[in-house]
Amino acid sequence: MHQDAYDPAEFWSRDQIEATQLTRLKNVVARVYKKNAFYRKRLDEAGVSPESIRSLDDIERIPFTTKDDLRSQYPLGLVIVPEEELVRLHCSSGTTGTPVAIAHTQNDLNTWADLMARCLHMVGVRREDVFQNMSGYGLFTGGLGIHSGAERLGCMTIPAGPGNTARQIKLVKDFHTTVAHILPSYALILGERIREMGENPADLPLRIAVVGAEPYTAAFRQRIEDLFNMKVYNSYGLSEMNGPGVAFECQEQNGLHIWEDAYFAEIVDPETGRHVAPGEVGELVMTTLVREGMPILRYRTRDLTRFLPGTCPCGRLHHRMDRILGRSDDMFICKGVNIYPQQIEDVLMKFPEVGRNYLILLDNDNVGDILRVQVEIREEYFVEDLRVLRGLQNRIAHALRSEILVTPRIELVQSNSLPVSDGKAVRFKDQRNSK
Ligand code: AMP
Ligand code: ZN
Repeated sequence: MHQDAYDPAEFWSRDQIEATQLTRLKNVVARVYKKNAFYRKRLDEAGVSPESIRSLDDIERIPFTTKDDLRSQYPLGLVIVPEEELVRLHCSSGTTGTPVAIAHTQNDLNTWADLMARCLHMVGVRREDVFQNMSGYGLFTGGLGIHSGAERLGCMTIPAGPGNTARQIKLVKDFHTTVAHILPSYALILGERIREMGENPADLPLRIAVVGAEPYTAAFRQRIEDLFNMKVYNSYGLSEMNGPGVAFECQEQNGLHIWEDAYFAEIVDPETGRHVAPGEVGELVMTTLVREGMPILRYRTRDLTRFLPGTCPCGRLHHRMDRILGRSDDMFICKGVNIYPQQIEDVLMKFPEVGRNYLILLDNDNVGDILRVQVEIREEYFVEDLRVLRGLQNRIAHALRSEILVTPRIELVQSNSLPVSDGKAVRFKDQRNSK
């Protein structure tokens, strides 16, 4: 086994990966076809029999599964094992409508914990580390999912949950926490609060943070790394594919390896559904290859990314994807221009004056769309001299204009004045129809 491997599958050759994928793909199609009425009907309609899957290219013949499909099968319509074999339920975060429920067998939980442990091991986490999970627990998979992986690896694992900065710091100090899992939006809030308490986040024993569950830019990562003097690794996952442990950065910090022995990943044009050319941006589509209780075929994640070309210096041949560049349903159109909230964050984070939080608001009046960006300014820059603040406002507006081609109204607000959430951050509000 490769000396850096937690699991030998990490360093498989492409031939090994692809041969395993084909065996598992055939297996999953055969199982859902036999055991699930929804999938059988779908596959029959598309003229796909399990025997007709002969190569990995045949996956393109399988119909997609969308979030609406999963909702239509709520609560357990897609489960293919007897219900008494289920041991855990999670739901995906969604603000409105019927949730999506994902149920797991004990084997599913074991493979998930193994995958998650593999991710943590890859970035240098070891059993000697103390792991503090600062994400929410409950139905959200970033709680128990990451927790089980850290325990599986053998770390002492602290289920701290988010919020309560004073307790968070006390735990870090008292138990000498070396690794944390934290949402990007909360990482900066935590850092700023520690500073306000007169302490330097960089003095804490944290050396690694696993950061994910919501999109963030490279500039945002840099900020977190600098603030805490630790390494930050991007962690990607979604409830429909278990949760965290789907794709993870290695120590090169250059793209996220997708664990292809467990998932089949494709990138498609969101309009046509066809595979994009190699290296082009499109929507990530994923198939579970090993899930027992509730397999999902060709799930449309809505997440936009691309496969990165070339091989990774770390030696792992599992394809790498770029950090999530946005969601196909995230984009908004303002004055006819397509804009992704990530583009705005990218510009904002380059200003040292900009604090930890921002909010993009889209309104309209009888002339047209109005794009406003409320930006928290760090305490030390929030001076009384109006000219200085005006200057800053203009610089931000200009920088944004050259990125998104629309000039937004910039509203500078004080630190800690924008709403924060315990879970995923709300960065964008479209208020155009609410008037
Ligand atoms: P949930 O199933 O509720 O955990 O939400 C999953 C969604 O969170 C994904 O489809 C992504 O949109 C987002 N997400 C998770 N991890 C990341 C990440 N590292 N970067 C960007 N977005 C992420
Ligand atoms: Zn790598």
